[in-house]
Amino acid sequence: MMLNSALQNNLMNTNNHYDAIVIGAGPAGLTAGIYLSRARLKTLILSEGTVGGQMILTHEIANYPGVDSISGYQLSNIMRNQAKKFGCDIKSNITVESLKLDGDVKEAILADGTRFTADAMILSPGGRSRTLGVPGEDVLKGKGISYCATCDGDFFTDKEIVVVGGGNSALEEAVSLTKYASSVTIVHQFDHFQAFEFAIEEARNHPKINLMMESKITAFHGDEKLEGIEITDLKSGLKHNQPIDGVFIFIGYVPNTEFLEDKLDLNQWKEIVVDNDMQTSIKGVFAAGDSIVKKYRQVTTAVADGTIAALAASKYIHELSQNKQVQHSI
Ligand SMILES: Cc1cc2nc3c(=O)[nH]c(=O)nc-3n(C[C@H](O)[C@H](O)[C@H](O)COP(=O)(O)OP(=O)(O)OC[C@H]3O[C@@H](n4cnc5c(N)ncnc54)[C@H](O)[C@@H]3O)c2cc1C
Repeated sequence: MMLNSALQNNLMNTNNHYDAIVIGAGPAGLTAGIYLSRARLKTLILSEGTVGGQMILTHEIANYPGVDSISGYQLSNIMRNQAKKFGCDIKSNITVESLKLDGDVKEAILADGTRFTADAMILSPGGRSRTLGVPGEDVLKGKGISYCATCDGDFFTDKEIVVVGGGNSALEEAVSLTKYASSVTIVHQFDHFQAFEFAIEEARNHPKINLMMESKITAFHGDEKLEGIEITDLKSGLKHNQPIDGVFIFIGYVPNTEFLEDKLDLNQWKEIVVDNDMQTSIKGVFAAGDSIVKKYRQVTTAVADGTIAALAASKYIHELSQNKQVQHSI
């Protein structure tokens, strides 16, 4: 439903009105915040949980250009301070429950009914790797359990690791991890893989790869870091414990777009559809980072998307304000 102009004016006259609202304070959202604020646009970032998004899950980021090695927490802090230095308002531990995106005034609505409005909106809610959901996984994430071979493979040089999954990504990443690890065991719950034949053959024939079919990890052991796993043989039901240096889990990826369903175009995997300017199917609404349709999900790609979205949003806000001035003067 379109807001009538009196209601739009009321909303815009409150302190809750911004030039731009960014949803999500991962690297995509923080970068957008830096660019928008530096362009002297009144900008608000709203983010669930701590600032930094998935970056805070990793103890070392070693592939961010210009920075030799840094913890995800430290990189998040630097990005946050940079955005704040330019005047960006950042509210963390806030979940946006719903959105109103039609009309010139966009609204972000919180669970308690609080509304923030803006001329433009950038959606950067990121995503999450599908987890096994077994005991020990939550505490040992980033401490021996990883969901990203590109990010963490190097930390497991000459170590014994396990890869969980049976699709194309699991098999391809298992092969790529043989560059580092001394051995890679693929643990898969079925008696066959759901991947292309060439990927299956490559994994099967690799001298460093072992297969453990019809098996499941049912627990992770360790306090400060991963020390071992419990594996259950699904045919016999027998469990055994095995010491291990690292486990990589590739059983799917879920974008955090549940709150966007029916608001704008998502593809069949619920990723946000954008054009080259990060413009979504709704005018004035842009998206960036892991939640959009794309293949490679990294801090660098999120930062690049955030830059493009912010520049495109700045242009949109400028044109909107020029149009309003023209309409006013007629
Ligand atoms: C363990 C791990 C290690 C990694 N290591 C590396 C690495 O070494 N190098 C590298 O380049 N990449 C690494 N990555 C990938 C990288 O972290 C992501 O690609 C990147 O963080 C994506 O950025 P983003 O801003 O799109 O989303 P995210 O980082 O996911 O941030 C999105 C933010 O939006 C918030 N949000 C979601 N929904 C809502 C809502 N409704 N309302 C308000 N806020 C919301 C989320 O809580 C989150 O804070 C790693 C990922 C993981 C999981």
